[in-house]
Amino acid sequence: MSYDSSNIFARILRGEIPCNKIYEDEFALAFHDIAPQAPVHVLVIPKGEYLSFDDFSSQAPADAVAGFYRAAQKVVAQLGLQAGGYRILANTGADAHQEVMHYHLHIFAGCDLGSMVRRGLV
Ligand code: 5GP
Repeated sequence: MSYDSSNIFARILRGEIPCNKIYEDEFALAFHDIAPQAPVHVLVIPKGEYLSFDDFSSQAPADAVAGFYRAAQKVVAQLGLQAGGYRILANTGADAHQEVMHYHLHIFAGCDLGSMVRRGLV
């Protein structure tokens, strides 16, 4: 699969669609998820065109990878999530129901997030 620059996050990066922005630097943009699944539900996306965790982690230059994860941590700190805890998740591919084919991290926080995966799957 090749990167499709018409995906919704690419359009947000180009400013074609608005977002509720939390943080931005040269490597990343962070904004609130449009359909939050926790009291805090933030998306962090790299500025470059990468499909997934695999694509980004294997193909992006080292400074972009480091810059992206440093940006994600700045979002965590800016939102003051360390004290209560939080969960970071990257859906990848069909089994994980990745819907938007531009790599992104979900950051969930603000309540007891429960067990890591739905029980009964294994
Ligand atoms: P995925 O399933 O690909 O890991 O998650 C995609 C996420 O993007 C979903 O949580 C969905 O609610 C969110 N999302 C989809 N379209 C938009 C949008 O236009 N704006 C924002 N802020 N979030 C979106």
